[in-house]
Amino acid sequence: MYLVKTPVLISKLMSKSLIWNIPTSEKKIYLSFDDGPIPYLTMEILKILADYQAKATFFCVGENAKNYPELMDRIKDDGHLIGNHSYNHLSGWKTPVSNYIENVTKASNYIDSNLFRPPYGQINYQQIKHLKAKYKIIMWNILSGDFDKQLSNEQCLFNVLQSKPGDIVVFHDNEKSREKVLNVLPQYLAHFTDLGYEFCSLTPLL
Ligand SMILES: [Zn+2]
Repeated sequence: MYLVKTPVLISKLMSKSLIWNIPTSEKKIYLSFDDGPIPYLTMEILKILADYQAKATFFCVGENAKNYPELMDRIKDDGHLIGNHSYNHLSGWKTPVSNYIENVTKASNYIDSNLFRPPYGQINYQQIKHLKAKYKIIMWNILSGDFDKQLSNEQCLFNVLQSKPGDIVVFHDNEKSREKVLNVLPQYLAHFTDLGYEFCSLTPLL
């Protein structure tokens, strides 16, 4: 079970250390892609983003960043930001604090960024305490559900069409989400571009 929109109460409870959106009245949406980079899909996503002059933040898994340095370069060359998503996509709830921090540090050898997003959004208080000295910890307030095999393309599009100014929106740069991302992303970008929105990377946080 997961929630498309993060309940206000949950985000307020943890809002001191975690970033859920970028408050603004400007028509800006902060797109993000988790779990890449991977061959083919990352390039296809980059092409779609370029078609709409959209910028995004890619929260990369360290192991993938190590294996595909040329894709990391492409992401940066296209003007997008990168963020750390741990080396092995660990759940903070299932991983002892020291191992978790070690894994994030290992990823930082391949991902030069002060942005971190916990895989599955699962992180505990001690882990936050350690990481926030070095990182801005980025959550989201709109989850596309692109990874969900039960979800139709239409439902996935419906989820992201709820975006408002300043929202942080999550898609995935992984095989499981491939079909939905490639179908939904262009429709989503077209819809909000027509409404005068700009898609931005998380540069305000640097
Ligand atoms: Zn992830």
